[in-house]
Amino acid sequence: MRSIRRGDSGPAVAEIRSILVGLELLSEEESDVFDEATDTAVRAFQQSRGIGVDGLVGDETWGALDAARWRLGARTLFHSVPNALVGEDVRTLQERLLEMGYDTGRADSIYGARTARAVAQFQREVGLTQDGSCGPHTMKALRRLGRKVVGGRPQWLREAEAFRQAGTNLMGKTIVIDPGHGGGDLGVVVPEGPLRWTEADLVFDLAARLEGRLAAAGMRVHLTRGPHPAQSMTGAERATLANSLGADLLISLHLDGHENDAAHGVATYHYGTGNGLSSTVGERLANLVQREIVVRTGTRDCRIHAKTWELLRLTRMPAVRVDLGYLTSPTDRDRLVNPLFREQIVEAILAAVQRMYYPVEIDVPTGSIDVRQLRVALASSPRSA
Ligand SMILES: [Zn+2]
Repeated sequence: MRSIRRGDSGPAVAEIRSILVGLELLSEEESDVFDEATDTAVRAFQQSRGIGVDGLVGDETWGALDAARWRLGARTLFHSVPNALVGEDVRTLQERLLEMGYDTGRADSIYGARTARAVAQFQREVGLTQDGSCGPHTMKALRRLGRKVVGGRPQWLREAEAFRQAGTNLMGKTIVIDPGHGGGDLGVVVPEGPLRWTEADLVFDLAARLEGRLAAAGMRVHLTRGPHPAQSMTGAERATLANSLGADLLISLHLDGHENDAAHGVATYHYGTGNGLSSTVGERLANLVQREIVVRTGTRDCRIHAKTWELLRLTRMPAVRVDLGYLTSPTDRDRLVNPLFREQIVEAILAAVQRMYYPVEIDVPTGSIDVRQLRVALASSPRSA
């Protein structure tokens, strides 16, 4: 679908405006014109949802707006099969349950079996019929208790525990490497003389190198796409693929671009919302990837950040996305187009993955793992069996 943007008008714009009014991002006024105030409201909405802030209503923004119509309490929520209920109200409910210590998994806005179980557990504890659906009685109990009871971040502790129980050995673990873009979507493109560098090609090259190295270390490795896929894939499709493979980790590779060619550096993203809910295991992976790359390559450190992007939100394993530098920066580009530099990035990511599986107490300083010795390190690790 073509993005709806500033200057457009018609029923779709009226619809977008009415959702933004409902979210209190736009003042009430009948109009079907995408004016400056609408543009500002769309950008504020995108920022709040961790969607790229461009003021354009394309597929992802429209999907998020559509889900945002529902306010918690406006309808009865239940586990519907096969088409699960999706919406802002589900997300609010999940966040409230998470704050209270119930295990809904990630606040992904989808009323799945796990959310229904968490609701049933809540119902049992407050003495309501345990039907796992959220209607007026359950809402009333939630309103009464929701603000008082705030637990830790139990779902992330559970995720951390599951990860710990998986053991410290890389052998047999499944990792999904997701080269961004592809299939007509080239990502950032920079012409340079007779050459043309594209993000899609460079991240695929990195993914293929990483695939070889991780497989040599004994991991099961899957790439989300080949070098020339017929079609592009959404974040949700990539997440579904990783989930269906039962992956233990996911690393998505991108490059950045900016109109100002002075912008440069590497940044890593993990799942998290602004209000303190974040994946602790994902955050640790992001930290390790970011630190290893910065220390080993000397690329400028643009830090790690929490985002709610579909790929990070819908994956069930620790997942990160790393933007490995700006293709638009002459400095970063010179390095990224050099295969030797890309090999350094691959080694940094390999070291980060290895460190994910070291017990915290025997973790090693950043930049210190000689990844050529990975098998030796594995063999001598006391808990690698
Ligand atoms: Zn990208």
